[in-house]
Amino acid sequence: MIDQEKIKEAVRLLLEGIGEDPTRAGLIDTPDRVARMWTELAAGYEQTAKEPLSRIFPVESGEMVLEKDITFYSTCEHHLMPFYGKAHVAYVPDGKVVGLSKLARTVEVFARRLQIQEQMTGQIADAMMEFLKPKGVMVVLEAEHMCMTARGIKKPGSKTVTICTRGVFQDNEALQTRFFQMLGK
Ligand code: ZN
Repeated sequence: MIDQEKIKEAVRLLLEGIGEDPTRAGLIDTPDRVARMWTELAAGYEQTAKEPLSRIFPVESGEMVLEKDITFYSTCEHHLMPFYGKAHVAYVPDGKVVGLSKLARTVEVFARRLQIQEQMTGQIADAMMEFLKPKGVMVVLEAEHMCMTARGIKKPGSKTVTICTRGVFQDNEALQTRFFQMLGK
């Protein structure tokens, strides 16, 4: 559960830590705003992908389904800075498919937590395998990390790409190539 009072106290301390005055007019409501923002950014801790991935429909086709360019915003657990970009989620159904908006909901469940991009990629793939039980899953995330672009080495526009394959996608070059063809890359 999210403890709003703790977050507010932490933000006041952070402001003092950087030499600011948390009581000045421009900052007086900031701890409260930040606490409310975090209830949204950390909402994924109280959710699982079971709910969205249970809305299934039977199909006969065993052709790959790809939902691409799912925009997501997450928070890097090393710096508490945003990383954001696109998720591309594909699977080969085994008799059932899930509503397309539910793949976006699944990405959201894992994005709304403190994350490492590699871990998030695997969590999406594993949730798909666990709840939808397709023949295989392939997930690609491409994201810009503010901790890299706004500080440190400062390379705006540079992207980190992570990939995770499960089931029939593993070690299957033809299927992976088809994924990237459908992605248009
Ligand atoms: Zn970071």
